[in-house]
Amino acid sequence: MKKHISLSSPHMSEEGYEREYVKKAFELNMIAALGENVTEFENGIVEITGAKKAVALSSGTSAMHMALKAVGVGKEDIVFCQSLTFSATANPIIYEGAIPVFIDCDIDSWNMNPDALELAFEKYEKIGKKPKAVIVVHLYGMCAHIEDIVKICQRYQVPLIEDAAESLGTTYHGKHTGSFGEYGIISFNGNKIITSSGGGMLLINTEEAKEKAAKVRYWSTQAREPVRWYQHTEIGYNYRMSNIAAGIGRGQLKVLGRRIEKKRYIYAYYQEGLKNLPGINFMPMMKGTRSNCWLTCILLDVECKVKPLDIIKALEKEGVESRPIWKPLHLQPVFAGYDFISQVEKLQVINRETRADNSVSGVLFNNGICLPSDTKLSDIDLDYICCVVKKLWK
Ligand SMILES: *Cc1c(COP(=O)(O)O)cnc(C)c1O
Repeated sequence: MKKHISLSSPHMSEEGYEREYVKKAFELNMIAALGENVTEFENGIVEITGAKKAVALSSGTSAMHMALKAVGVGKEDIVFCQSLTFSATANPIIYEGAIPVFIDCDIDSWNMNPDALELAFEKYEKIGKKPKAVIVVHLYGMCAHIEDIVKICQRYQVPLIEDAAESLGTTYHGKHTGSFGEYGIISFNGNKIITSSGGGMLLINTEEAKEKAAKVRYWSTQAREPVRWYQHTEIGYNYRMSNIAAGIGRGQLKVLGRRIEKKRYIYAYYQEGLKNLPGINFMPMMKGTRSNCWLTCILLDVECKVKPLDIIKALEKEGVESRPIWKPLHLQPVFAGYDFISQVEKLQVINRETRADNSVSGVLFNNGICLPSDTKLSDIDLDYICCVVKKLWK
């Protein structure tokens, strides 16, 4: 029987911590929202990330929605958002009736290009407009040019939201992604570095973190006023994390360090295993960062005779899952018509397609692949995957 290897799948602790926390919740009948697991999961995340406050929510997407509301994003407001990402980064902008402006990446971080961000500020300033928020992503666990982006946002006095859904544990000069901006979001979806079977967390780093956390807790539990009957003065959401999900997440926190080590090992293993193949470039790890290496991603030179789809298909035949890099949001039909700001003219042209696509994120999409990065992969599995890939170069 052929073995199935997934890109990244849930990996419970060897010790069974998750079961213990869930079992205790059953014993106490603390099954629904709130309880010790939720509180301790939040505390654990605060301890790891250094955020001022954390609020456990039902998903990373709901955390992004709450971040936008906390910043005050509303109808017709402009939000600058990294283009190369999962749609969940930008969907909450639309939920609030706001207008996304997509920003291109650069080739050395695969994340938001600070020059393109600057360009966007200048362009919108000229027409007398200022965004209500900026959303940067730490894609695949790799840190964005976060210091430069923080500086630009501070200069324009616009709050920064970090989508750290994929980058829990990634640091820049020892500081955690998700703790640089006013807000950060984390996802505990099943394929992320640790999971709560589905869930997310909002990180709050502002001066008024305590008040903001209280407000998000209020919105995410149906905006109930503190009176005996159901009284509402605002629209609420049912976004809070359950005590069962939090029990799983709380157990997973204990093995986060171990999972990060394994992900980094996988990245290094592929680097070594595929190093002699011409035309393969690994997603760069910038100086000063320590990445959680959530997924190992590669970029093929445009001139490379092997194409991403060749690799994906060859692996698929062997029951191994891999996939293209996220399709940039400015190229998604659902976001067609929104503005997109690139800095391609000033970039050194990395290959012919840069100009054809007119965006770096487009090139990454066309020529990139996420390799299987499941923490349950053995060396034998990794050797096997490398072997299948190498055959294509023969
Ligand atoms: C997974 C993910 C999200 C959404 O998180 P969910 O928990 O699935 O809602 C948002 N942004 C990025 C970059 C993600 O990878």
